[in-house]
Amino acid sequence: MTKQLFAIFGNPVSHSKSPMMHNLAFEALGLDACYGRYLLKNGKQLRDKIFELGLKGINITVPHKEYAYHACNKLDGFAKRVGAVNTIVRRDDKLYGYNTDASGFLKAIENFAAKKVLFIGAGGTAQSSSVILREADYEVTILNRSIRRLDRFREDGFECYSFDDFVPQQYDLVINMTSAGLEDDFLPAPKSILDATISQTKACVDVIYGKETPFLKLAKIHNKPIKDGSDMLLYQGIIAFEYFTENKYSFDEIKRHMKKAFDFN
Ligand code: NDP
Repeated sequence: MTKQLFAIFGNPVSHSKSPMMHNLAFEALGLDACYGRYLLKNGKQLRDKIFELGLKGINITVPHKEYAYHACNKLDGFAKRVGAVNTIVRRDDKLYGYNTDASGFLKAIENFAAKKVLFIGAGGTAQSSSVILREADYEVTILNRSIRRLDRFREDGFECYSFDDFVPQQYDLVINMTSAGLEDDFLPAPKSILDATISQTKACVDVIYGKETPFLKLAKIHNKPIKDGSDMLLYQGIIAFEYFTENKYSFDEIKRHMKKAFDFN
């Protein structure tokens, strides 16, 4: 059998931990497979590139998750509902699309035993994560800087606020789902709103990984337990790996190998 090839597509893509995560698992499980990275500038080329490069599967990161959705022949029910795909598996020259970001996020927060959560942010990650959390019986409220992005959430029946009409109250978890703090030192919302909300919450989560964001720093000042996006990244990768290998390995077995990627900086 020839070596199976996988990759992550994105722009930028040089920072991604996915190649290390997947290659550690392939190697430890004795699989003849290799996972690389591909800087895809034009999302419209996504489908052709998969075939041209002879790939068995890919992960997709910013900004191509919607292109990935449109590139697939078949979509898993959840990916179809949220309109975003971050994992594609090629079977018999057909592309099958999945969304493992949201299931990875759900798994990452399960130990908090939370019910009522506040998302700050209304982008693609918030969209898929809000749907999966609601299906798992969480109560999700959305707070976002721009009103424009809230329309879709309102239509889906979520309670939504902008900074102008939000009244701070008690949530079990406050989650930064924005890119504020990723490459800058911004808080995701005005400090007065965050102080009044974080002071009442049980814990704070950021989906950004690999750094302590201004949001998490503020949560620490309020003496709240914090969690960054590393587990979300790890778990979305494990679930993608399950699809890549047609569920041959258990979640915990893959986790044992993949999490070693987080020992490196
Ligand atoms: P999108 O571009 O779809 O959405 C960005 C969101 O961030 C919007 O709600 C936007 O608000 C908000 N935002 C951006 N800058 C600011 C700011 N300075 N202040 C307030 N709000 C701001 O991004 P995604 O949903 O794809 O990604 C969101 C985050 O999730 C990123 O940081 C990404 O790295 C992270 N992520 C982490 C993963 C993991 O595995 N840990 C997986 C996937 C994503 P507005 O509408 O006002 O512009």
